[in-house]
Amino acid sequence: MAGYTAPVRASLDVTYACDLRCIHCRTNTGEVPAHIRRKMLSIEQLQEIMLDLDRMGTFEITLTGGEPSIRKGFWQLLDVVPKLRHATVTLITNAAAHTREQLDRIVDSGISSVRVSMDGTRETFAAVRLKDVFDTVVENSIYLRDRVQSFKVLTTVMKTNQHNVFDLAQYLRAQGFRRQDLILVRAHGRGGRNLLLLTEAETMAIHEKVAQFKKTVPATDFDLNLNAPYLVPGEQLRPYQDVVMFPYLVRDSSIAISATGDVTMSRLYSAAPLGNTKDAPVQKIWLAGQDQLAQEQEEFTEARLREIFWDFAAAGEQSAPPLTSLLDRQIFEGFEVR
Ligand code: SF4
Repeated sequence: MAGYTAPVRASLDVTYACDLRCIHCRTNTGEVPAHIRRKMLSIEQLQEIMLDLDRMGTFEITLTGGEPSIRKGFWQLLDVVPKLRHATVTLITNAAAHTREQLDRIVDSGISSVRVSMDGTRETFAAVRLKDVFDTVVENSIYLRDRVQSFKVLTTVMKTNQHNVFDLAQYLRAQGFRRQDLILVRAHGRGGRNLLLLTEAETMAIHEKVAQFKKTVPATDFDLNLNAPYLVPGEQLRPYQDVVMFPYLVRDSSIAISATGDVTMSRLYSAAPLGNTKDAPVQKIWLAGQDQLAQEQEEFTEARLREIFWDFAAAGEQSAPPLTSLLDRQIFEGFEVR
């Protein structure tokens, strides 16, 4: 880690608001109290952060949330995309209520990659997302898929949809999609509180099924991946990983920036953020935080990550796991991080 002049990837929470209320939502949409929402970064501050990251040499900036596109000013935020010299921008969206005009604005902004969340085929999808918008999401996804450089479906795997994710893969394949990542439900947010974490046996069963799927369907036809290689002993990590896909992975020089400006290497572990972008530019925070980053890096070895993850999963079988993320702690313990 030491010696990196910039985070390779940065994930930026544009908002904590969303038009959905998914049962596993890591950002607790609809529950974030006003005193936290009042501290949210302005659109200008978000633009400045993106420009700062680009100047530092960050490769990829992921805009996420909440649902980024419902943030007032989101469309102005996109004005910054063509000004970035190095960084590519990835948008994670639920694609649940976009008009054709809005989809075109996303495509025309220069965003090169889009990730859409889909957690099951129609009925399972509705049970997770609590809204029957499956057809709209598929339709919007097809529209985006055919127009952006890189498109992927993201599927969060949890207790209640693990039986369905391979049916979804086959459905997506039949619809002409080419890439799907399975992500394990986070311990933080509603996923932990709703006891949705998979056990080790369930996770390994998914891992095994992905391996079987790959034997019958070549990646050139449909590329299905379980994005949790750190949980599988002996599994090789690919060199470049999506920051938001790896909330538990710290072997990467990625950072997450919360909607209120807290910069952390991992939303899960960081007991204290490296800093806040309202107090200092990202570059300064990054440089000043190198010792903390190195310490966290050393502490959270792959073996330790597995241990922590399975501890959360096991705790989830008995009772809700402990609050883990900065946002959870801010909301439910009234703990002011800053
Ligand atoms: S779409 Fe994403 S941000 Fe919105 S409620 Fe669902 S998980 Fe949360």
